[in-house]
Amino acid sequence: MKTRIRALGFLLLISLAGHLTAAPPSDAKKFRVNSGRIESRILQLSEFGKNPDGGVSRVAFSEADIQGREYVMSLMREAGLKVRIDMAGNILGRREGLDSNLPPIVFGSHIDSVPGGGNYDGDVGVIGSIECAQVLHENNFTTRHPLEVVVFSDEEGGLVGSRAMIGKLTPDALQVVSHSGKTIREGIRAIGGNPDKLSEALREKGTIKAFIELHIEQGSFLDDKKIEIGVVEGIVGINWWDVTIEGFANHAGTTPMNKRQDAMLAAAHLTVAVNEIATSMPGRQVATVGRIKAEPGAPNVIPGRVVMSLEIRDLSSEKMDLVFQKIQEKANHIEKQTGTNISFSFIDVAAVPAPTDERMRKIIAESARDLGLSFQLMPSGAGHDAQDIAQIAPTGMIFVPSVGGISHSPNELTRPRDMANGANVLLQTILKIDEGALELTQK
Ligand SMILES: [Zn+2]
Repeated sequence: MKTRIRALGFLLLISLAGHLTAAPPSDAKKFRVNSGRIESRILQLSEFGKNPDGGVSRVAFSEADIQGREYVMSLMREAGLKVRIDMAGNILGRREGLDSNLPPIVFGSHIDSVPGGGNYDGDVGVIGSIECAQVLHENNFTTRHPLEVVVFSDEEGGLVGSRAMIGKLTPDALQVVSHSGKTIREGIRAIGGNPDKLSEALREKGTIKAFIELHIEQGSFLDDKKIEIGVVEGIVGINWWDVTIEGFANHAGTTPMNKRQDAMLAAAHLTVAVNEIATSMPGRQVATVGRIKAEPGAPNVIPGRVVMSLEIRDLSSEKMDLVFQKIQEKANHIEKQTGTNISFSFIDVAAVPAPTDERMRKIIAESARDLGLSFQLMPSGAGHDAQDIAQIAPTGMIFVPSVGGISHSPNELTRPRDMANGANVLLQTILKIDEGALELTQK
């Protein structure tokens, strides 16, 4: 029996009442995920690629990845989803809606891991998304929009599946050798895709109603503040530079201190300045020197040349530019002070900031509030498939706490209650969007 009631009058009523978004019918409002089932499935999924010392090495395209994908597809079928693999190797589980002309609401994450990874990164979003579909299935509730659960291929190797979906997986990227030992091209084939037909995996702008990714935070913000749900404002942009400092290599014993052009000394000043500049400005920008190499690199030679890295991340490109500008100004002072020459060369691996859709943030926040959960707006410092899909569809992300902020480690942990909270927020968000919340929410 269909328990759903068409509710246009209801929508009108709540919009008149001044609420921001639409609410699902009252019976669906009460739908809750099964926390025990989520937990046991997370544990089951952790068997594929399990490491003796805990966690998993389920790198994309490995045997463990292929087996994990089989397991996840079996869960999708159990949830009544129709499963297919697109040409980029993404798994898609579809549930038809009442109106097949409407674009689907898409939600999901990934199950591949880094080498020596944990049991929650990506997995929580996938198992949580399948759980949402299963709850609707068990309640025999049909949404207006079709629903699609997605498991993106090779997230950890460079957002391969989502990049293909937006048409931005380059031929060069296909040649990269992944952790599995296979090239991305070979890997896509190994998991049921076809790298020669990637254009068939393309999703055009406007063909996805909304995309929502549930994910563990991977930082300690939520855990430290004891907040249950993170409403992601966006995924930070990343800019990289190689910084070359030219001084003058000379004898470390015979050159007096006031006659030196020490590239290493300049690098040290600059490294401190990078930290001070990022710290002195309001906001959550971060700047890092992560690599440094001195030449010629001998204890008895004043370094004549140093090459170091510079990375800046923030949600706003303008802020990133401002941090860089201040670093450059400081570098000018250091050049004069140390008799060196400092140059910055931009490295093109940069990711532009990907803000989430403002309406999606409001809908996710309202879902959390309805469920009596504490929530907070926050940026994502790590990259996610959502940043790609944000280019073609209104996108939102739900974060749940990572205990101790540990991630990409066997010690990664998200508590069962937090996984269930996140999945419940996801479910109610899907239902609100289905009822027209995007249209009723103001930017
Ligand atoms: Zn992830």
